[in-house]
Amino acid sequence: MKFEPETRGILRQESFEYGRSVLGAPLLCYPSRGKCRLLVLAGIHGEEPETTFLLSRAVRAFERNFEHIAVVLCANPDGIALGTRGNADGVDLNRNFATTNWVAAPVLSRSILEAERDTSLSPGKSPGCEPETRALVSLVERLQPESVISVHSPIGCIDAPRFTPVVERLQRAFDLPWKPDIGYPTPGSFGTWCKERSLECITLELPRLAPELLFERYGESFARFLAAQD
Ligand SMILES: [Zn+2]
Repeated sequence: MKFEPETRGILRQESFEYGRSVLGAPLLCYPSRGKCRLLVLAGIHGEEPETTFLLSRAVRAFERNFEHIAVVLCANPDGIALGTRGNADGVDLNRNFATTNWVAAPVLSRSILEAERDTSLSPGKSPGCEPETRALVSLVERLQPESVISVHSPIGCIDAPRFTPVVERLQRAFDLPWKPDIGYPTPGSFGTWCKERSLECITLELPRLAPELLFERYGESFARFLAAQD
């Protein structure tokens, strides 16, 4: 692991396409070389592009693919390209997973943290109907990781049902509070989908910071965390 000027700008890990978005963008996974123990994914909400940026920056400290960690830098490339929380169909992908509590009701979210829930998105016509959701489900089933870290923003906490060794290390790397429950149901979320499959899903909610400040504060500690987990 190193942060050198000549390597900072390039992702040198090999990737494969695990699916295509609504608009046809490739969904890329950087697989582990050996058995996948941890999957780290970012950018499932298009209005959180800093999650993709920070994860990419951390991965760029490594010359080749991890031994036991697979990475998805952007689970919603159309949303990032369009600047929308949902995908190109207007679906909040994090409410589109086929969970037992999936509901067809509109998904309300906040434009800013202090605001009322002022933005309405669809959870999809049916559970798991969006290509990005289906592709991610297939990927997880194929990789069979022991844990998943899904990176979001801007709440600034680590949301995980149990304080496991991975959570503990992540907390040390990011110095963010651990929350066993975010306090409201998230039907159709990726986290709920994982929970129903007894797969550990840790939501890393980055604090509200501009990308370069996120890199300054967490770039190296995130990379060190990944090295230690691998
Ligand atoms: Zn999010």
